[in-house]
Amino acid sequence: MRLSRYFLPVLKENPADAQIVSHRYMLRAGMIKQQAAGIYSWLPLGFRVLRRIEEIVHQEQVRAGHIPLLMPTLQPADLWRESGRYDDYGEEMLRIKDRHGRDMLYGPTNEEMITDIFRSHVGSYKDLPLTLYHIQWKFRDEVRPRFGVMRGREFLMKDGYNFDVDKESALHAYNRHMVSYLRTYERMGLTAIPMRAASGPIGGDNTHEFLVLAQTGESEVFYDDRVTTLKLGARDIDYDDRDQVAKVCEEFTTLYARTDETHDEAVFTQVPEDHRKVGRGIEVGQIFYFGTKYSEPMGAVVVNDKGERVPVHMGSHGIGVSRLLGAIIEASHDDKGIIWPEGVTPFPVGIVNLKQGDAAADAACEGLYLALKSKGLEALYDDRDERAGAKFATMDLIGLPWRITVGPRGLANGVVELTSRRTGESEEMSPEAAVARVAEIYAGR
Ligand code: ATP
Ligand code: MG
Repeated sequence: MRLSRYFLPVLKENPADAQIVSHRYMLRAGMIKQQAAGIYSWLPLGFRVLRRIEEIVHQEQVRAGHIPLLMPTLQPADLWRESGRYDDYGEEMLRIKDRHGRDMLYGPTNEEMITDIFRSHVGSYKDLPLTLYHIQWKFRDEVRPRFGVMRGREFLMKDGYNFDVDKESALHAYNRHMVSYLRTYERMGLTAIPMRAASGPIGGDNTHEFLVLAQTGESEVFYDDRVTTLKLGARDIDYDDRDQVAKVCEEFTTLYARTDETHDEAVFTQVPEDHRKVGRGIEVGQIFYFGTKYSEPMGAVVVNDKGERVPVHMGSHGIGVSRLLGAIIEASHDDKGIIWPEGVTPFPVGIVNLKQGDAAADAACEGLYLALKSKGLEALYDDRDERAGAKFATMDLIGLPWRITVGPRGLANGVVELTSRRTGESEEMSPEAAVARVAEIYAGR
């Protein structure tokens, strides 16, 4: 993408109403625009990251054997009357009447609708296990929408629902989600810690939240800090192997890690003192096992292998897709701007032309741009007629992890400069070597 032809409305001033760094940088980098309290347009740069995050979520869900579909944002109230949640849900639910006076709502979550789909089409244990998910906009009329996309009213969520014939297989689905979530967050450059949580309006006794540690997080967290060093890494997971998946979950949930809702001081004091930490965290996902809470009242039953009709065991599993942008920025920035992890960056690399209009510099930038493109890497090429300082400031603010700087002086010696946004370190090399290095960094992503 050539910056002169892009739409990147960068702000020079700090927006007054943004209280936390991710909100500030998302506004300043021209990623989002607020349209109403807690409701945002996703401008091109923000939209690219959002898409990238969605893509990773999809890939890891499909890898775990889960099946994507798409349910609507608007739902009929009658489904929610069947489960009893139409009255229970309260003011967070946006209720709407259509022209015929029928009660509708903008979905805050989809347990009822997915249960309806299931009961309409599935009747036998032979069709199980089944996990369906979608990535769709939700609306919750939060009392205090704030911190930009972190606590929006309209927000993008991945929500998945498992259907299993008994509790044991439903708990395997729960574990499968935990592992696939760990991998998802790691690919985004995040450490998200599964913490035992309280269940809230979804219901159920088995639930974990995934928290990214950050000063600005809304939840208070208590943990053994050795939990922050655990990594899934590139190990092979067979998602059908119940024991293997359960062992990984055990590895990640044995050390003490809880939110204030389930914190138990007596247990916590058994953690060695130098590992005992209290901090704050951002909830980026939650998984639940809730048994037959929805399948019973809504009649989602299957015939089991003994010929009996039994309600299916279910769970629901959510990732805050749009909130993740904020969480990643909170976890990865400096005083100049965002530092995107390679896994989610809007562009893999930026090209800065120090002297636009100089024949050699222009030609070298063009050459780099096309060479990167031929390797499947879309660079953001700053081809504007601007001072070098302004170009650097923009690149630092929008946070591309790598920058290639091209100027007449370097070119006279046959070199350009490759700079890491994270470390600030630069290295001179030939344009060909720079392309090869960047391609190597992104190989397999
Ligand atoms: P919270 O406690 O933060 O209000 P929740 O527990 O009500 O969230 P869930 O029903 O567990 O939310 O939804 C799954 C995920 O969706 C959450 O883990 C979070 O990452 C994200 N999410 C929930 N509410 C919002 C919101 N208002 N804005 C952005 N993301 C949200
Ligand atoms: Mg939650």
